[in-house]
Amino acid sequence: ASPLEHNAAGLTLQKRGAHACMPAMRMILVGPPGAGKGTQAARLVDTSRIPHVSSGDIFRALKGTELGNKLDDYMKEGGLVPDEITIPIVLDRLTQPDCAKGFMLDGFPRTRPQAEALDKALANADVNLDVVLLIEVADGLIVERITGRRSDASGRIYHTKFDPPPPGVAVTQRGDDTEEKVTNRLRKYHSET
Ligand code: ADP
Repeated sequence: ASPLEHNAAGLTLQKRGAHACMPAMRMILVGPPGAGKGTQAARLVDTSRIPHVSSGDIFRALKGTELGNKLDDYMKEGGLVPDEITIPIVLDRLTQPDCAKGFMLDGFPRTRPQAEALDKALANADVNLDVVLLIEVADGLIVERITGRRSDASGRIYHTKFDPPPPGVAVTQRGDDTEEKVTNRLRKYHSET
């Protein structure tokens, strides 16, 4: 079976599982890098109890593996990971049992082929999206937000100026959160997403 058929089959199983309890909630967060998708997703996930599926987080979690190193070559410059790699990884994540109650997709789809692949997988599984949430933020604000972005070991996000970490909390900055790389990511967002 092709990866898509495989994934469609997985989604079908989840649909059945979902009927057992609550109706599933499938949503997509769309918006430029730094718009606050991750922050809003964390809040929504708290209340809706569906998994937050962030393509960027999935890729970063592969760090140290052979695949992860390959991904890093694309990510560190702020470019996009190719569709042939991205699509199977993210669609596979959606077949995991916790996605039976729905999911909050963040960072995917980002290109037309990704959107088409998701559409096809959902259609094959006979399920629909419930919500597409678009967060719009002006580019100038994004650069300030992203270059000040920091996170602690738990993944909690801070901002050096707007939400500084408390004294004693060690934070790190993502390697692609520099002004130059943000500009590149924004360019990609406007041209490809
Ligand atoms: P941001 O949205 O802040 O740029 P993400 O954490 O969503 O950050 O993504 C980080 C990087 O991972 C992106 O710059 C890109 O290289 C890669 N990436 C994430 N999602 C996708 C995707 N759907 N398609 C291609 N590349 C992606």
